[in-house]
Amino acid sequence: MSDGYDLVVIGAGSGGVRAARMAATYGARVAIVEEFRVGGTCVIRGCVPKKLYVYAARFTELFDVAQSFGWQVDAKFDWPTLVANKEKEITRLEQAYTANLEKPGVEIIRDRAVVTGPNSVHMVNGKRDLQAKTILIATGAQPSIPAIPGAELGISSNEAFDLPALPHSILIEGGGYIAVEFATIFAGLGVDTTIIYRGDCILRGFDDDMRRGLEAGLQDRGIKLIYQTTIKSLAKVGSDIAATFSDGVVAPYGAVMFATGRVPNVKHLGLETAGVKLTPAGAIAVDGYSQSSCPSIYAVGDVTGRAALTPVAIREGWYFAETVFNNNPMMVDHSQIPTAVFSDPEIGVIGLTEPEAATHGDIDVYVARFRPMMNTLSTKTERTILKLIVGANGGKVLGVQILGPGAAEMIQLVAIPIGMGATKADFDRAMALHPTAAEELVTFKEQTYTYRNGAKV
Ligand code: NDP
Repeated sequence: MSDGYDLVVIGAGSGGVRAARMAATYGARVAIVEEFRVGGTCVIRGCVPKKLYVYAARFTELFDVAQSFGWQVDAKFDWPTLVANKEKEITRLEQAYTANLEKPGVEIIRDRAVVTGPNSVHMVNGKRDLQAKTILIATGAQPSIPAIPGAELGISSNEAFDLPALPHSILIEGGGYIAVEFATIFAGLGVDTTIIYRGDCILRGFDDDMRRGLEAGLQDRGIKLIYQTTIKSLAKVGSDIAATFSDGVVAPYGAVMFATGRVPNVKHLGLETAGVKLTPAGAIAVDGYSQSSCPSIYAVGDVTGRAALTPVAIREGWYFAETVFNNNPMMVDHSQIPTAVFSDPEIGVIGLTEPEAATHGDIDVYVARFRPMMNTLSTKTERTILKLIVGANGGKVLGVQILGPGAAEMIQLVAIPIGMGATKADFDRAMALHPTAAEELVTFKEQTYTYRNGAKV
């Protein structure tokens, strides 16, 4: 068989798999090259195992509340069982992804690929060259680890899923998605958990009520928060790791995890041989159709640094295939992306935050705070928060922020009216469904506060 393809995709993660599958469905001869496992970060060591582990961690709280409903629970947790069952599930998903590629005729090549020109890709292990009319880079991103002495003693989210045993304590550096989600997981599974963050409150860029609400929720669950501090070095002390902080404190932990962001996988890909330009942040620079500065090379997903989220990568891969292989140019709208933080309590958001919205014009803000019904028989005082940010005087709903159980599920559905340009009146027209938390979104009467000329009133 000749090594000439219509499309060679590098990276079999969410974006690459979707693009390859769609292009093949449209009749293209497609190869996809993957050096690790089919499925990418999301399936193998990201969203999917993370959510499974979050479910595992949440049982602790359910057992707590169960007593208020009359249950007596004597539960024990076994980490190896969770790891083994997780592995079974992601292997099943990997097989499903593989089958979905093979069905429309995509050739899967297990190798490391290096671009050698605008239309050529070299297989490092197989020592052969593929010719491609179009090349798609979908290599994703990898954890960024601070360059400190002893950094190799720490782990990233890549390793966290498969630790041989749970540590007695863990120090997690970072204040983003991964830091708070893994803190939730480890604390829920009984590990003494500390977050160390260089800023003054977790989740920079999120709505302040969400940040402070989650901060309180994490503390309620026993998670310690050290702010405005970083890890300066790590050293092995017996079976523990001693962390030296920027304020001079030295403390031992059973494990140290870096959740200090992710960087696009562009190194050793040979992009320079084809004149593919990068953004200042080191991602592949692409236009609205995911085309790079080399016309035959496209890129989708985390490697482009647009929005590092699985559904966005999938959409970019799909629209790339529509554009290039179905004569149907389509651009992804990156303006209304719902996102969730699978922490405890959970966060779901879409659209603008208050400060962002207030710079666009006058806004009305509606806020509801209440104890989730599930907790009302217990002594738990944690509040769910729902916030609607609306253009003044009956304008469009510009943002929705939710903290509490089910926030992610709620925000996915809210994305539909927001995408349609719904106004407060459209929300009000919906009949409330009682008793739910989400009914608050359609029953707001008086603004809680407003912003006029950029200032909170
Ligand atoms: P984030 O960018 O969300 O957070 C990185 C954190 O590390 C920030 O708090 C940042 O601080 C801090 N940080 C960065 N560099 C350093 C450093 N050198 N020293 C100390 N602290 C540092 O990255 P994550 O790793 O949490 O996640 C990566 C991306 O993956 C996310 O942005 C998201 O797009 C995606 N993701 C999405 C999830 C979801 O949808 N639920 C779950 C997990 C990941 P500062 O705030 O000061 O910049």
